[in-house]
Amino acid sequence: MPSTVDTIPFQAETKELLHLVIHSLYTHKEIFLRELISNASDALDKLRVEGLTRSELLEGAGELGIHLATDPEAKLLFVIDNGIGMSRDEVIENVGTIARSGTKRFLDALKEAKKGPQAPELIGQFGVGFYSAFMVAEEVTLETRKAGEEKGTRWISQGQGEYTVEEIDKPTNGTTITLRLKDPEGEDGQDFTQEWVLREIVKRYSDFIEYPIAMEVGSGDDKKVEVLNSRKPLWSRPKAEIEASEYNEFYKHVSRDWNDPLETIHLRVEGTAEYTALLYLPKKRPMDFFDPQQAKSKIQLYVKRVFIMGDCDELLPGWMRFVRGVVDSSDLPLNISRETLQHNRQMGQIKKRLTKKVIDVLGDLLAKRREDYLEFWKSFGPVLKEGIYFEDEHRDSVAKLALFASSKGEDLRGLAEYVEEMPVKQKEIYVLVAPDLETARRSPLLEAFAARNYEVLLLTDPVDDFVLQRLTEFQGKTIRQIEKGDVELDDADDKAERDEKEKELEPVLEAVRKELADKVEEVRFSKRLTTSPACLVSSDGELSSQMRRFLRDTGQSEPAKKRILELNAKHPLVAKMQTMSKDDFGRFAKVCELLWGQALLQEGSQPEDTQRFATLLTELLLEG
Ligand code: ADP
Repeated sequence: MPSTVDTIPFQAETKELLHLVIHSLYTHKEIFLRELISNASDALDKLRVEGLTRSELLEGAGELGIHLATDPEAKLLFVIDNGIGMSRDEVIENVGTIARSGTKRFLDALKEAKKGPQAPELIGQFGVGFYSAFMVAEEVTLETRKAGEEKGTRWISQGQGEYTVEEIDKPTNGTTITLRLKDPEGEDGQDFTQEWVLREIVKRYSDFIEYPIAMEVGSGDDKKVEVLNSRKPLWSRPKAEIEASEYNEFYKHVSRDWNDPLETIHLRVEGTAEYTALLYLPKKRPMDFFDPQQAKSKIQLYVKRVFIMGDCDELLPGWMRFVRGVVDSSDLPLNISRETLQHNRQMGQIKKRLTKKVIDVLGDLLAKRREDYLEFWKSFGPVLKEGIYFEDEHRDSVAKLALFASSKGEDLRGLAEYVEEMPVKQKEIYVLVAPDLETARRSPLLEAFAARNYEVLLLTDPVDDFVLQRLTEFQGKTIRQIEKGDVELDDADDKAERDEKEKELEPVLEAVRKELADKVEEVRFSKRLTTSPACLVSSDGELSSQMRRFLRDTGQSEPAKKRILELNAKHPLVAKMQTMSKDDFGRFAKVCELLWGQALLQEGSQPEDTQRFATLLTELLLEG
């Protein structure tokens, strides 16, 4: 029965992406080969792992490897592997759609940057892999047969609006990709059917691939099949012999990022547990980084140079999911499975050591390459904060990596720098949690601290509240949220003066308390105000204004606990209110309510009844 050819339109976003890839990437078109070889290498890994439990899949398979072949006359390039292959459904799923979250956002960003120098960088963050073939090919044919299945599938596309799929007979499992090449462009356009061109590209980008990348070379009687790559796993080579470019290419292979890494960590450990780790820190956040499905470790595990699994969760804590790379152990059993890994003592040791190493390297970056670190922090700050929360053992060292806005100037500040520059008199680390930076900077709560030249760190990220639940001290110093509880800043002399003032004004405190009894929990004099008449604070262990807002925004009910209103005994208004409370009580009542509303406004919240707030204000203005 003749098989039918189905023509299927690309998913809209795939189509758009293809268009952009073809039209916005001009340089280094040769990397399409790296991408196809990486895919082939993955498919071979998968077959080998699958073959451990289903040995029939490997029977008669011959050596696992990758083959390049050309037909210069017809301008064809073939990339062939005998890996796991794909079923028809997988073909449609994997190369007909882009089932990744964030695709739309990515496309918008890419369109913005189109033609600009950022375009390739953005694509790098997304990783378009297979589609990069369309940079050099006017037509791509993919023929594949999944290991263990009878029939194969042929997929053809010109990278325009659609592709075709049909069933085919394919004698072997694995995938053959045929590129019908475009004419080389410009003077330095490369001809990808030339032996030396392919040889160089493989050497440059894929030398470390574990599987042989073979090609028929020479002509006439001299024809022979040659393996183009050295196949030496990069991590097993002596560090001194490895060039930066080799490290970078390997990073691109394991991460699918097209940019160079921020930092490379190559570590060989001997002793009770013997292993080599080659880890990388990326410069930028991958597009789908916050996709919950991607929220797992991306480290590859090898045992004695044999690939065991791709995303091994047990090698680094979850919050370090930005780290890419491989760990090759010399003494784990080859048949180790995900289940047995969890209880393996060696794995525990490796994880401990690597976690510490990554933290140290980040600390070094912060100390020595601040500009680079700032970029890194912009991309990965939220996960590092996750680390502060979860990392009981290294909390101080992870906290040291965090950067916060500061009441002193525009630059981000770390906790260690903060402590180092604390005035001698200052005993605690002060932080203010606020919904946004602008509100934080305007907060009256900062006044007393500014007057004493004490720095306050301004925490405006929604996760900061959670971080502070665990991060209660740093280098032995208490971290004090200045919007909570009691803060004592005055020394003895100041305190005596203040006590006297407060005594004098005790009656007004009582009057305000009565007036606002159903609105606030307590009214008291403040130790943190210098220029504002009043502010709102929470009691210790109470939800912050940020947390309350979060609950409101996510439609959850707020606990009904009321706040504490603090009055500034040194402010003339407060003294005036004392007189007013006796002479003109109607007016006093209005002022109380306005003061409360104003304190809410100052912390970025709203007066409870904005209409009433406005009316009261107008009335008071009219009274003059
Ligand atoms: P990525 O490799 O980053 O996932 P690609 O677009 O390069 O993205 O590939 C998409 C998917 O297609 C791969 O994840 C893989 O499942 C499948 N694929 C691509 N090439 C091959 C191949 N040679 N053999 C088997 N599957 C492949």
